[in-house]
Amino acid sequence: SAISSSDIEKLQVLGHGNGGTVYKVRHKKTSQVYALKVVHADTDDSLVRRQVFREMDILRRTDSPYIVKCHGIYEKASGDIAILMEYMDLGTLDTLLQKQGTFSEAKLAHVARQVLNGLNYLHNHKIIHRDIKPSNLLVKNGMEVKIADFGVSKIMYRTLDACNSYVGTCAYMSPERFDPDTYGGNYNGYAADIWSLGLTLLELYLGYFPFLTPGQRPDWATLMCAICFGDPPSLPENASEKFQSFIECCLQKESSKRWTAEQLLSHPFLCKDPRSEK
Ligand code: ATP
Ligand code: MG
Repeated sequence: SAISSSDIEKLQVLGHGNGGTVYKVRHKKTSQVYALKVVHADTDDSLVRRQVFREMDILRRTDSPYIVKCHGIYEKASGDIAILMEYMDLGTLDTLLQKQGTFSEAKLAHVARQVLNGLNYLHNHKIIHRDIKPSNLLVKNGMEVKIADFGVSKIMYRTLDACNSYVGTCAYMSPERFDPDTYGGNYNGYAADIWSLGLTLLELYLGYFPFLTPGQRPDWATLMCAICFGDPPSLPENASEKFQSFIECCLQKESSKRWTAEQLLSHPFLCKDPRSEK
């Protein structure tokens, strides 16, 4: 049954995104806890409002255990918009990295499997996320990982659609989104999400963003040059061969050579070793 916005009480601020604030809230009748993303009407930035509507549209269409659930959408007469979502008690992979340090290969395989299931679902529904990164992957109940933040996502109404506009976080953008002529042979927008996933996993393993040295301040021009003209980043030699191969499959500069979410789901890195199962 629908949850009325008057039955929701705010508990605390969970974080600020660009244009909105996310609160931890409680449904008074059931005591169930949710996250509520509020974008104020006085946000004069029409882009931000467009992004919220896009996010609402996608959350309404999706239903997967690997994508954050939407429990209600509220539009007040004042123009404020709010999205009631499932509460992810451990926050983002970005905060987990800061709190708990770098991730082991086993943990990353677990993360990758869940994000790929989410991406496979989205891509099968013709949705490109376009902003996969540690701070847009939410965690709950130990290590359940879900994709969030559909503000800049794209629904592909036609099969091939030029969607290489500058949206999303530049740092995680794939080579073909900067330079589709060189790296986008047989351009397919879905592959951009796989590139971003590869960078995300690498960052969680290394503890820093792979295109920058630890502590280096990101700047747009340096990053773009590194992404387009440099070799793709790779793992250090002490990482397992399976993991190295997996990252290579994600970080092919030529988008048509990159594996799809479905292909990656059966990569040996993700296949559980039957001997390790008790
Ligand atoms: P960024 O540009 O870093 O992606 P954003 O504008 O996309 O920011 P929001 O999606 O608005 O960020 O979320 C802001 C913060 O609120 C997140 O970083 C996260 O810490 C927290 N948050 C968002 N959704 C939830 C949720 N469902 N459960 C728990 N915390 C959440
Ligand atoms: Mg975010």
